[in-house]
Order: sequence, then C-alpha cells, then structure tokens
Amino acid sequence: MSEEPSQADILAALSAQTFRSRAPPSTTTWSEFRGQGEGEAGPSTNVTRIYCFRETCGSLILLQNVAESTSTPSPIFPVESNSPYPPPSTPTHLWHVKGAPMAFENIGFSRNSSAGVPDDAPGGKDGRAVKWLICAECDAGPIGWSYDGGKEAWLAADRVRYGT
Ligand SMILES: [Zn+2]
Repeated sequence: MSEEPSQADILAALSAQTFRSRAPPSTTTWSEFRGQGEGEAGPSTNVTRIYCFRETCGSLILLQNVAESTSTPSPIFPVESNSPYPPPSTPTHLWHVKGAPMAFENIGFSRNSSAGVPDDAPGGKDGRAVKWLICAECDAGPIGWSYDGGKEAWLAADRVRYGT
C-alpha cells in the first residue's frame, strides 16, 4: 500500500528546497583563499568548493579537489568597463578542469566567441573557437573558457569564490 503525498507535503518540500537554494554559502575571495597554500599561487588543487562570484547567487560550480592550479602569462578576458571582477593582474591564475563539462556541478557556456584567448594561454595557439564559461544560474561571466568540442576548461581563480 502506498500513500500519495498530500498537497501540504509537496508545498512543504518545495518551500524547503527554495529556502536551501536561497541561503548563500559562506565563501571567500581568491586573495584570501590563496593564502591557505604554499607560495603565491595558493594550493595546487581547489581544496574547497568553488562558487559563483556573486554572493547572492551562490551557485555551486565545482566540488573540492576537482581542478588543478595553473597559470598563464597574459590577461585572458576582453576588457569590459563595468566588470564586477578584480582588474586583471598577471600571471592569470587558473583552475584547470579535465573532463568538462561533466566535472562541473553547474556551468554555462557561451556560443563560440569571435574573441579568442592569447596564444600563450593553454591551447590558445591551436586556433580553436573559444566558448566562455558563465554561471549556469545567473549568467555572470566570463569566468573562464573552454574550446568548441573540447573536454578541458580553465576557470579564472579570481572570478569565482571559495567555500569556507
Ligand atoms: Zn551565479
């Protein structure tokens, strides 16, 4: 014998879900996070979860220890006058994610971009079309990039937040 859930049960479950997704996780910035590791590049893997840069969004992007720390000499992103992100500083610290997009918990991709990444960025000199990574929930970005049809992605370390 099975009992159908009542409408009140369903509403309670829905509001609990809404409440959870609206409670922002406790996070910190890249500059604070990197202080937890050896040297200026910070820990060699993302030892905490990675979230959207917008604290009010709080979308979970990566579970901990999914990505490896790396860097690239040049700024990556097109210059935007109203960018909410820290001004570019070089080298650009990155999280290298293998097995994209499945390795991500939540991530969005732009259409192929006419603006590429610098030749000295990982994979940049291959001339492949770039897809910018954006938050799957609030579309904030770009926070990193991937290549059309590629299984690798790179997140900008200072364009995401870190679980505490
Ligand atoms: Zn977001």
